[in-house]
Amino acid sequence: MQSVLSRSFNIARQTLHVRQIASLSALSETHQMLQKTCRDFANSELAGQNAAKFDREHLYPAKQIRQMGELGLMAVAVPEELGGTGLDYLAYAIAMEEISRGCASAGVIMSVNNSLYLGPLLSYANAAQKAAYITPYTTGERVGCFALSEPGNGSDAGAASTVATEKGDHYVLNGTKAWITNAFEAEAAVVFATTNKQLKHKGISAFIVPKGIKGFSLGKKEDKLGIRGSSTCQLIFEDCEIPKESLLGETGFGFKIAMQTLDAGRIGIASQALGIAQASLELAVDYAQKRQAFGKPISKLQAIQQKIADMSLAVESARLLTWRAAWLKDNKLPYTKEAAMAKLAASEAATLCAHQCIQVLGGMGYVTDMAAERHYRDARITEIYEGTSEIQRLVVAGSILKEYAN
Ligand SMILES: Cc1cc2nc3c(=O)[nH]c(=O)nc-3n(C[C@H](O)[C@H](O)[C@H](O)COP(=O)(O)OP(=O)(O)OC[C@H]3O[C@@H](n4cnc5c(N)ncnc54)[C@H](O)[C@@H]3O)c2cc1C
Repeated sequence: MQSVLSRSFNIARQTLHVRQIASLSALSETHQMLQKTCRDFANSELAGQNAAKFDREHLYPAKQIRQMGELGLMAVAVPEELGGTGLDYLAYAIAMEEISRGCASAGVIMSVNNSLYLGPLLSYANAAQKAAYITPYTTGERVGCFALSEPGNGSDAGAASTVATEKGDHYVLNGTKAWITNAFEAEAAVVFATTNKQLKHKGISAFIVPKGIKGFSLGKKEDKLGIRGSSTCQLIFEDCEIPKESLLGETGFGFKIAMQTLDAGRIGIASQALGIAQASLELAVDYAQKRQAFGKPISKLQAIQQKIADMSLAVESARLLTWRAAWLKDNKLPYTKEAAMAKLAASEAATLCAHQCIQVLGGMGYVTDMAAERHYRDARITEIYEGTSEIQRLVVAGSILKEYAN
């Protein structure tokens, strides 16, 4: 069944001239329409009381995720024949920003389903795996998760200690995956485990594992600083037998699949960070124009104006980097460095803007009546997951050193 967005975009495609965003300064009408749809949805269904409630009560926004599925936001870049919306990665980045501007928890749930779960399946699943594990996960009724990190290794993902031992017509999984977003609600997981320890990271393979099978259980839900509407748990595998057909791609391809997935995922997290940064900027500007001090609105004070200038500079430059990375991916050009730059810039923009937003709001920034303190807590994770800022700097520097050596 076609989603609302995919139906309206098909009409738009037939009637509108879709411009290339060569200068990255003008969006096509299709992208503008998507932006508006997502902004309206985020304003009415996420931002304000709902996002505050999901955060306060650690509540998974089930209804809103289903509505996002109806809009086509849970499988933005999945082809229509597989049940997705059939749009490009720039569309995904735009939608992610708008949803995260309303609620960063809904943003990460969407991001994990789109880029970390469906992304590797789209590239590596066979026809049977696609039918079973892509199409049912495009509507928001079901979500998936991505299990790479472990208690003993996060940044050093190649040191995975979860093992998959081949036994007859199946593999036996043993080990624990840590910090897995969507774990509590996910019906299936892309799991990375070593099939050959001697080969180190080249001995890691990827598997698609459904929930509810014997030997697969969850750890406790983590009590987090931010993005509290999304679940984060351990996946525990104890002599968990999975059929050989669970292998995604070839044996030993797991590390490559994980790194490719994270390159694309970083565009999603950059967009999530942009949404948090943009929400913080808008809140600060609105408050500064209303709040009076020394007989005039604080927006007239140069100290406040400088904060607004720094915040908008950080947001707009990070947005250009993010859209550039998406555009490169859409045009099948290398984008590893650009995605790392985008995530680094956007996550630091989110932290800066959320911090400055609290400063502009003064005491009102520090209490839960306003969204500023939630943005501040939500922003922090964007500098940690899908590669910390230190790791993004290593990726960027590695690429630059190679480019300049040539
Ligand atoms: C809320 C949340 C959700 C998450 N969701 C997922 C998920 O869905 N799936 C998943 O697989 N993982 C997930 N993660 C895990 C996340 O990707 C890792 O936490 C992250 O990669 C960092 O790994 P670590 O926590 O082990 O820190 P470590 O790797 O132990 O790093 C600790 C510190 O050392 C620094 N450091 C490490 N190595 C280097 C280096 N070579 N050079 C410079 N500095 C270095 C790091 O930057 C960091 O500052 C999630 C984490 C959180 C908190």
